[in-house]
Amino acid sequence: MADSNTRLTGRIVFPDDPGYEKARMDFNTRFSKYPRVIVFCQRVQDVINAVKWARENDTPIRARCGRHSYEAFSILNNGIVIDVSEMDRVFLEKRKGTATIQAGATLLPLYKALWRKGVTIPGGTCPTVGISGLTLGGGFGMLTRKMGLLCDNLMAIQMVNAKGELVYADRHVNSDLLWASRGGGGGNFGIVTSFVFKVHPISNVAVYNITWDWPDAKEVVKVWQDWAPFVDERLTSILELFTQKAGRISSSGEFLGQEDQLQYLLKPLTAAGKPIQVKVQTIPYIEAVLKFDGGPGPHKFKNTGAYVYHSLSDAAINTLLYYMEISPGKDNSIQFQSLRGAVSKIPPAKTAYFHREANYIMQYITQWKTDNEESPNVCWVEKLRQSMLKYVDGTYVNWPDIFIKNWPCAYYGANYRELVKVKRKYDPENLFHFAQSIRPD
Ligand SMILES: Cc1cc2nc3c(=O)[nH]c(=O)nc-3n(C[C@H](O)[C@H](O)[C@H](O)COP(=O)(O)OP(=O)(O)OC[C@H]3O[C@@H](n4cnc5c(N)ncnc54)[C@H](O)[C@@H]3O)c2cc1C
Repeated sequence: MADSNTRLTGRIVFPDDPGYEKARMDFNTRFSKYPRVIVFCQRVQDVINAVKWARENDTPIRARCGRHSYEAFSILNNGIVIDVSEMDRVFLEKRKGTATIQAGATLLPLYKALWRKGVTIPGGTCPTVGISGLTLGGGFGMLTRKMGLLCDNLMAIQMVNAKGELVYADRHVNSDLLWASRGGGGGNFGIVTSFVFKVHPISNVAVYNITWDWPDAKEVVKVWQDWAPFVDERLTSILELFTQKAGRISSSGEFLGQEDQLQYLLKPLTAAGKPIQVKVQTIPYIEAVLKFDGGPGPHKFKNTGAYVYHSLSDAAINTLLYYMEISPGKDNSIQFQSLRGAVSKIPPAKTAYFHREANYIMQYITQWKTDNEESPNVCWVEKLRQSMLKYVDGTYVNWPDIFIKNWPCAYYGANYRELVKVKRKYDPENLFHFAQSIRPD
């Protein structure tokens, strides 16, 4: 450290500091990594100093925001973690219809701040996910089919590049960097310090929840997959297939319209099987945010997934059901998220987010508590992923999976080549790198 000209600034946590254990924790507690230092940046200058310090000390870097990377790509052993989570202010320019959001914001406080002004952005459902990782990889949630992906609402970014310089990108200036920041994945080109988003007025929404018993699972999957991606785009929905032991399947969704219209739109779904519960109600948008916040806090998990471009055949659905019958953990599940609508109106090459034509995406979810449960669950989810490969096309960069060998194709399809060019321009020395980062060559 003595050979460095640049001093670290911000809140700096070293391994012998009392806050180190908390500072190194990842949302996925399957991982336990020991960085050389963690810098909680409070100003843009702290980010610049940290990048320069890392270069001068030949220390590998990871950018971090909400700590939700599935493969813990935002933390590392013996390197520097440049954490932006203490830069989380929101500046609304309501007349312009935009908000400048610092790169460390997390979703629930952000939604609450915007809701107080009667607006929102179409982000994800988990309250603690960070705006940075979510936006840079795409970002979908319960408003996606009407308002697009979060990255489709991104208008500009400010980023510290590999030389420690502040770079601005919008439609006119460094437009290639803005293109890459719309779905090219976090951690690849530099450390983003703020985003400018288009905001949308929001008030009440209509929401639904339907539950069926396990024997209806096949019929419900068949009906949902031909309905959810094509129904009125003001309705975004999810379907959750639980294990046979848990014994149920459920669907829920959010509609930007009246309750009676939603009742009407739901008819094909409520006619499938014998629903044991159908609930439709109108609530303030912020209550819907809390309703869909699902899932536990930090825990051990291995999730992966796949885009579905064409309705799954009977054989494919039988494969899903088989894996839910033999699941080693009762709490494992498969979650289907409807897409199309606004997502498909943008051509795949227009932004780095490639999978615009998919009907929906499936997430294979496994979680456990004790270490001896890890191996059976990880094997199960990998076998499930492999067994479904012949029916699906690619997956989401924000659900990275270290087992995917041809990840450039799976995450980015034909857009990978352009991403390499952007990488070469903004980080030719590959300072920002990790197991599945975009390479400059
Ligand atoms: C419980 C849970 C729920 C989720 N729900 C959704 C959902 O509803 N919709 C959805 O689309 N996705 C969802 N995801 C996936 C989520 O989008 C990704 O995990 C995302 O990468 C998390 O971003 P983060 O900032 O929280 O994580 P981090 O681990 O901090 O970062 C993720 C990646 O971005 C990089 N990064 C972080 N900050 C910056 C920065 N300032 N500049 C450049 N790179 C940076 C990191 O280096 C890392 O590679 C969910 C994930 C979890 C664990």
